[in-house]
Amino acid sequence: MANAYLFRIPQPEARRIEIELSLEARGARSLDVRLPVWTPGSYLVREHQRHIDSLRAQDESGRELPVDKIDKHTWRVQCERARSVKVAYRLHCFELTVRTNHVDATHAFLNPSAAAIFAVGREEEPCTVRLALPPGWRAWMALPEEDGAFRAQDYDELADSPLEAGPETSHSTHGFTAQGVEHQLVVWGRGDFEARKVIPDIVKIIDGEAAIFGGLPYKDRYLFILHLNEKGRGGLEHRRSCALLVPRFSFVQKSSYEDFLLLVAHEFFHLWNVKRLRPAAFTPYDWTRENHTRLLWAMEGFTSTYEVIALRRAGLVTAQRFLEIWAERISQLLRTPGRLRTSLAQASYDAWIKHYRPDESSANTTVSYYLKGSIVGLLLDLELRRRSAGTRSLDDLVRALLQKHGLPPGLPEDGVERAAIELLGAERGSATLHEWFRRAVHSTEELQLDEALAAVGLKAVRRAANSADDKGGAEVDPSKLDVDSPPRGWLGAILRDRPSALEVGAVVEGSPAQAAGVAAGDEIAALDDFRSEMKQRLGRAQPGQTLRLSLFRMDELLEVPVQLGGAPRDTVTFVPDEKATPEQRALREQWLGAKWPAEEIAPRPRGE
Ligand SMILES: [Zn+2]
Repeated sequence: MANAYLFRIPQPEARRIEIELSLEARGARSLDVRLPVWTPGSYLVREHQRHIDSLRAQDESGRELPVDKIDKHTWRVQCERARSVKVAYRLHCFELTVRTNHVDATHAFLNPSAAAIFAVGREEEPCTVRLALPPGWRAWMALPEEDGAFRAQDYDELADSPLEAGPETSHSTHGFTAQGVEHQLVVWGRGDFEARKVIPDIVKIIDGEAAIFGGLPYKDRYLFILHLNEKGRGGLEHRRSCALLVPRFSFVQKSSYEDFLLLVAHEFFHLWNVKRLRPAAFTPYDWTRENHTRLLWAMEGFTSTYEVIALRRAGLVTAQRFLEIWAERISQLLRTPGRLRTSLAQASYDAWIKHYRPDESSANTTVSYYLKGSIVGLLLDLELRRRSAGTRSLDDLVRALLQKHGLPPGLPEDGVERAAIELLGAERGSATLHEWFRRAVHSTEELQLDEALAAVGLKAVRRAANSADDKGGAEVDPSKLDVDSPPRGWLGAILRDRPSALEVGAVVEGSPAQAAGVAAGDEIAALDDFRSEMKQRLGRAQPGQTLRLSLFRMDELLEVPVQLGGAPRDTVTFVPDEKATPEQRALREQWLGAKWPAEEIAPRPRGE
């Protein structure tokens, strides 16, 4: 008999569900039942157990069995010769993110890894899930359904299969075929989503990513669960589904729609990278504690590299925009002083205590393995293309990784580097590639951007930002770049608008603000005695100019003079290298899928 779950939602307005797990006792004196402390894909111990109350156990005749809690995540049930044991509890569901549980009158979203307990030692056994939903509700789950129950082959599969349920009036569902396989998209919440526009773009992303691996890794079904909300954004990958959370008006305005498509491409790429190519450190998951790996730069980083590549190959961004996205990311990295303090491998290892708990010092002390990892993926792609004269690329590497390590025991900690060296063969300089990995992944030295870009005849011009909104970009005509004009005045503090003040969110390492003693949490009440137009006046100030800040710190008014510096050259614009060889130009065209600059064939307009 499978371990049988019943999810009941008698009163969704109470924001909770009731869960029962029935299983055979098989003569055991006691059974330990446990809820994971974390949700795979989101590397933080969240202690989901804190949402459980009233856990009790009964035998097949309804007799109460003694239950003791033996650690923060485990309950011990005394079986007392019961034939079967039913454990029941209530679970509070009030957190709307992709990795937690949320129930209200309009829907229920459950992550079994955060909701369903399992019997310790029986993780490999099959599970069934039955639902007792409010009248008029229906449910979506990527598991096969048979005789009114969803079926998972083991707890791992159940934990990886989120459930969406609710009345039809709160959801829209859309079926479509991609790569010959049925896919379903269920949307909860209202906004400017329009299936006619969005689904063809999702199909292009699926096609583009499947082409890298020679097809999809499943043959029957896939479920996209899309939640529209006020401003939250997130995604979580699963083997047969993904959960996406985006602001409700994400589908018309160009940059927010691009952001949505990047999220879709990211979570879908995880089908291969993380869900099938899994670090050995995750094989199997330890549900009771942190699962450390130094590979998140490849798991999340390469996935973030491919979210951009997928949009380009799907024709959803132009070659110009593709380059702009990378220039923006590199600029963002150059504005993160923590890149010189923490290596990618270290940032991966410390994800559990740092990445999901950012604070005012994060930008000065650490680096995102998403951001820097995606740029390392970009540079590695260029490096492989350069060293192989265009016959190898990052595509070959991720394919080889999946082939070598796609099954247990999974990807060893040095597996990416080894596979890359193997891919090129010793004759193309494996020793120097080893050095490349040491520098990019294990050190805090600057990335070798210029060398990588030279492979495709591009140059990265570093200049001061023209304005607070200047994110970097790509320029066809280098003479248009004004790199020699005097830089703007620079304070070096991240400022947030508050009613009648500017709050200092963070102070950049080595900045004039830091030298003057300005600190995170300070509230700037006036600039040179006045509070109007403070940001604009700061923006107009010159390097060397001294400003007087009136600021409140812990309720006390302080006067702080700050001498502004010159804005750092932390903004990157890509330009074509006019001296590029024909070989470099050919590699650029192959890499971009188009000629840049000029003669570019514009992608077909959307809607065709
Ligand atoms: Zn991810």
